Amino acid sequence: MKRSTEERKVVCISAALLRWFRTAARPMAWRETRDPYRIWVSEIMLQQTRVETVAPYYERFLLEFPDVGSLARAPLDAVLKAWEGLGYYARARNLHRAAGILVARHDRKVPRTVEALETLPGIGRSTAGAIAAIAFGADVPILDANARRVVARLFAIEGDPRSSAVEDVLWERSAGLVRKGKGRDTALAVMDLGAIVCLPKAPRCRECPLRSRCSSRLRGLQDSIPPKRARKMVPHHDVVAALFRRTDGALFLMRRPPDGLLGGLWAFPSGRCDPGETLDDALRRSLREKLRVRAVIQREVGAVRHAYSHYRITLHGFLCETSRGALPAGEGTGWLPGHGEGTFALPRADRKLVEFIHREEE
Ligand code: SF4
Repeated sequence: MKRSTEERKVVCISAALLRWFRTAARPMAWRETRDPYRIWVSEIMLQQTRVETVAPYYERFLLEFPDVGSLARAPLDAVLKAWEGLGYYARARNLHRAAGILVARHDRKVPRTVEALETLPGIGRSTAGAIAAIAFGADVPILDANARRVVARLFAIEGDPRSSAVEDVLWERSAGLVRKGKGRDTALAVMDLGAIVCLPKAPRCRECPLRSRCSSRLRGLQDSIPPKRARKMVPHHDVVAALFRRTDGALFLMRRPPDGLLGGLWAFPSGRCDPGETLDDALRRSLREKLRVRAVIQREVGAVRHAYSHYRITLHGFLCETSRGALPAGEGTGWLPGHGEGTFALPRADRKLVEFIHREEE
């Protein structure tokens, strides 16, 4: 059957992309394996996180949890500890839950199809596509952030790439790029092109293997596709944290609720400052409300700025002593050993407060 001009163009784009990939592919530890478990772990870690950040976590995580069974058997605390500092902790909780499901229902095997992968916690359509393509060579498309941008530019697809109408077109176009038997290389090539050539700001069109067929470049639209999102004001909150210290140097911690931001991690008791409230007053109030203790504030050990996806905080840490009431004990409470190590997974900002104390003592 005769191909249309558009089909011939897409075939040429795919061929040029794969040719480029053969020489330009980025080396990564998780690309040296076909073990579906390892590829699944890497794809979850890479969600919203850069390759350079993921690399050391990937190695350590797999040393500790080398297969589905060991991950499923591990306590959630151990998984969160291995994830400490990588952020977006729902990924770790979902990975752990999914490992349990694989043991219970899938004979410890990562499913091969996009449909089955999508039923697991933490796996959306694009991650399912990436795992199916990279681990099993399935000829399926992906649409992660890099692919979204590359495909939108290649075919000059205007409009908000997150709207469902545009997204449908992007999926269709992304699928069109996958030639028979080339699912794995196509997925990796699109990821790499987006990461090193078709950059979010200032795409390197001159170096691009697809420049002669890229509709955006040919029409001068590469800087306006995808459209810039309106910058939202990111709210900022002052948060106060109490560091209760035992004579052996151990610091009091509480476990955060299992779901939501930093779910399941261990943190210092803390509270948000109300408008117009001093830091000291906010801390005393939070401790009264949350722990039913009155506290003497000794001094501030430091302040840490931290950005979450929808807001920023400054976390002010204060060394405190109880003056009335006792700190809670038992389930959901713990003491971080004075040397700071141990099995507790702390949010990055709380970990920095611990470092401040240790630095003071050096
Ligand atoms: S030519 Fe430019 S805009 Fe088009 S895919 Fe390549 S880098 Fe991206």
